[in-house]
Amino acid sequence: MKVIPLGVWGGYPKAKGANSSFLVIEKDYHLLLDCGSGVLSSLQHVIDIQDLDAVIVTHFHHDHVADLGVLKYAKLVQNQLHGKKRLSVYAHNQDKKFQEWTSNDDIQFHVLTETKEQKIGPFTVHTQVTNHPVYCLAIQLEGLEGKKVTFTSDTAWKDELITFASGSHLLVSEANLYQHLEGKIPGHLSGRQAGKLAHDAKVGQLLLTHLPHFGDVNELVVEARTEFNGPVSLAEVHQTYEV
Ligand code: ZN
Repeated sequence: MKVIPLGVWGGYPKAKGANSSFLVIEKDYHLLLDCGSGVLSSLQHVIDIQDLDAVIVTHFHHDHVADLGVLKYAKLVQNQLHGKKRLSVYAHNQDKKFQEWTSNDDIQFHVLTETKEQKIGPFTVHTQVTNHPVYCLAIQLEGLEGKKVTFTSDTAWKDELITFASGSHLLVSEANLYQHLEGKIPGHLSGRQAGKLAHDAKVGQLLLTHLPHFGDVNELVVEARTEFNGPVSLAEVHQTYEV
C-alpha cells in the first residue's frame, strides 16, 4: 500500500498548498481520503483525475469537502472527453449536507457506516466516531496483505482511538495544536497527544498532518517524540510512504 499526502494544512491551505488529504494506492486502485481546498490541484501532480476510483470524506467541515464541488465538474468534463468512468464517493449520512448530494452518471454517493466493516475496492474499511464538534469518522484502511493504515481525521483525545488504531503499521494523526493549547481549544490533538496515541496503540510509524498556521510546526514532531519512540515526521506532500 502507498500513502501519498496531497496537503497537510488544517482550516485552509497555505499558498500553493492544500488542506490535509491523502491518496492511498493499492494495486491499481486509487482512493482519495478527504477533498478540501487545493486537493484537486495537488492530486493532478500524482495521477490523472480519471485514474481516481473512490473518495472517502470523513466529515463535512469545509477543509475536508471544499473541492468536492469542482471534482464533480472535473468528472463531467473528463467523462465527456475520455469516456464514462463513474467515481464513488463515500461519506457518513449524519449530516444534512449528505442528503443534498445527488448521484449522477459521473459520481455515485455511498453511505459510510460506522457499525460494520465495509469493502471499498481492495480495502477493508473500519471507522470510529471521533471527538469533534461535528460528526466525524476516523478511518482505518486494511490492504490486501493485511497492512493497516489509520487516519484520525479531526479529533480531540478519545480513549477508543487507542483500540481502533491498535497495531497499525502507519498512523496518520492530526496535530492541529501545540501542547500548551491542550484543553483550551476543542476538537483537535496536540503533537504530544498524537505521539501518545501512537505509543498507546503501538503503531509502527507516525505521520502528522492537519497542521496549524502558527508557531513552528517542527515543534509538533518534538512533542510527539516525548511520547513515541518510533519514527515520526510531518507528512510531506507528494512523498510516497510505503506500508
Ligand atoms: Zn473538522
